Amino acid sequence: MITVSGVSKSYGNTKAVSDITFTVLEGENLVLLGTSGCGKTTTLKMINRLIEPDSGSIILDGVDISKGKPEELRRKIGYVMQNVGLFPHFTIAENIAVVPRLLHWAAKKTTQRTVELIAKFQLPESSLHQFPHELSGGQQQRVGLIRALITDPAILLMDEPFGALDNVTRSGIQSEFKALEEFKRKTIVMVTHDVQEAFELADRICLMDQGKIVQIGRPKELLFRPANDFVTKFLENQRLVLEFKTITVKDLWALLPDSSIQSSPGHFSNAFSIWSAMELFSSDKTVEAHTFIDLNTQVSKRIALSELTSAFGSYQNLEIHD
Ligand code: ADP
Repeated sequence: MITVSGVSKSYGNTKAVSDITFTVLEGENLVLLGTSGCGKTTTLKMINRLIEPDSGSIILDGVDISKGKPEELRRKIGYVMQNVGLFPHFTIAENIAVVPRLLHWAAKKTTQRTVELIAKFQLPESSLHQFPHELSGGQQQRVGLIRALITDPAILLMDEPFGALDNVTRSGIQSEFKALEEFKRKTIVMVTHDVQEAFELADRICLMDQGKIVQIGRPKELLFRPANDFVTKFLENQRLVLEFKTITVKDLWALLPDSSIQSSPGHFSNAFSIWSAMELFSSDKTVEAHTFIDLNTQVSKRIALSELTSAFGSYQNLEIHD
């Protein structure tokens, strides 16, 4: 869907981005991760030509983006700005309607789509007539997402989309984001400096440092097949949480015994992460075991917490010593 080849951008003597090459597959969520100043935002903004590269090429859907008009390119790409970037003197409805207006949409079409999206993002209709400062940070962030999604673009660029939120609101919106069909179909490039956010939301992570790509891969590859010491050190502090959030019950399936312990009624998918599975145990300490099911094979296993942690330990050993 997007191919970035040998792209560089300098500001005076600062090499913001230095000869980077990567591909974004259709429908995937690629997260650009790295510390402040490593070149993430510059990379993102070159994809919608808010910044022009000094050299290299960016091909979008088979077409070199430098060939057409930037405005036309931007109409095909949704963009969620850092710090939301709503117009303060526009109502929420007017903020959402900015791009539809540029595209000369009929007012009725804009209203219909707006109403559809605010329901999906759980905003009250009354907020449409309010101004940005009258909404909470979380609500403003939702408006920023709606504004980027209104024309249903196939590609979405997101710059620290959850950056301005407190931790609780942030994790709420992140889960909604993951669950929404609107996002699942899209090709997304997202910038974050938050390692956990990257691991929770990314199909693949592009870890950057000093304008260069250090490693691109699935979260599990960064954890268990780090390209070099930089990657290992970058993840070191949060390693255990990242493993809990990245590894699923399914990954441990072969290492889990069939337990005979009486389990609670109902079952859960083995696509649950270890983190989510542990949350089940901590939410009701009277339950000795939970039933997990492999939705492909319909095989289920009753798993006690001790079995889960022991299988996790074996999995870590296998992955690390493999
Ligand atoms: P990130 O998004 O990873 O924080 P940026 O892409 O914003 O990084 O910036 C990369 C580097 O380029 C930084 O050193 C930054 O200071 C520099 N830079 C970015 N934009 C400009 C600009 N307009 N003028 C001068 N230097 C810039």
